[in-house]
Amino acid sequence: MTGDPGEDGLLWATLFRDLGVEVVPPASRAAAGAAFVAGEKGDQAAPGRSASATDFALRDLALAADPAAALETLRVEVIGDCRRCGLCEGRTNVVFGVGHPRARLMFVGEGPGADEDAQGEPFVGRAGQLLDRIIVAMGLSRPEVYIGNVVKCRPPGNRTPLPDEAATCLPFLRTQLAIVKPEVIVALGKTALEGLLGPLAGGITALRGRWFETQGIPLKATFHPAYLLRNPAAKAPVWEDMKDVLGRLGLPVPKR
Ligand code: SF4
Repeated sequence: MTGDPGEDGLLWATLFRDLGVEVVPPASRAAAGAAFVAGEKGDQAAPGRSASATDFALRDLALAADPAAALETLRVEVIGDCRRCGLCEGRTNVVFGVGHPRARLMFVGEGPGADEDAQGEPFVGRAGQLLDRIIVAMGLSRPEVYIGNVVKCRPPGNRTPLPDEAATCLPFLRTQLAIVKPEVIVALGKTALEGLLGPLAGGITALRGRWFETQGIPLKATFHPAYLLRNPAAKAPVWEDMKDVLGRLGLPVPKR
């Protein structure tokens, strides 16, 4: 986000179009009775919720003074009982994201697994416990950072999200990024990286350690914790990546 209404307007218009949301120009808002009006795909009211409750202003959410309230509005009013892609069919819970609403650091994974689907929280299984240990080794705590995923519903059998599923869900993550405004993003694995940046040449082994940028935020690519569980030797390069991240945040590297 740049603060430039032209550039930001283009980005938001793209996000709204992806969500199937009709953008009402500010001059027409009073007449329309809402800043943004749910379109055919956007009318995702949970049972018993009025259509007007799904009228929302994602851009206003990003500009909101209270990021915790904005995230809650996004979770409840915008996403709700989302059925925008096929992943809704097998999920138990929409796994929204968790953490500090103004976290300086955001971790982004690929999607919920079985434990996350059952508990409705990202990174709570074995891989999540390892991520927690990485966060603690950085001198931080889980409540201090923000953790989200490219898709918010569990893919069947923990398969990789399909490109259209990731693309359909991505506006929600982009809105979370716009609300939280982290100073650094860590993409955990190639699916998360490509979810944010689009297709990239090369595997995660070649891409990890590199800095990218999305929404004006520096983005560090590293291995997914699930990969570290299978390949403990990869913990060393991940720690190098986390030291880089701490440096970008101006934080000291704790002694190990
Ligand atoms: S994965 Fe995202 S877009 Fe698909 S149903 Fe779940 S919340 Fe909606």
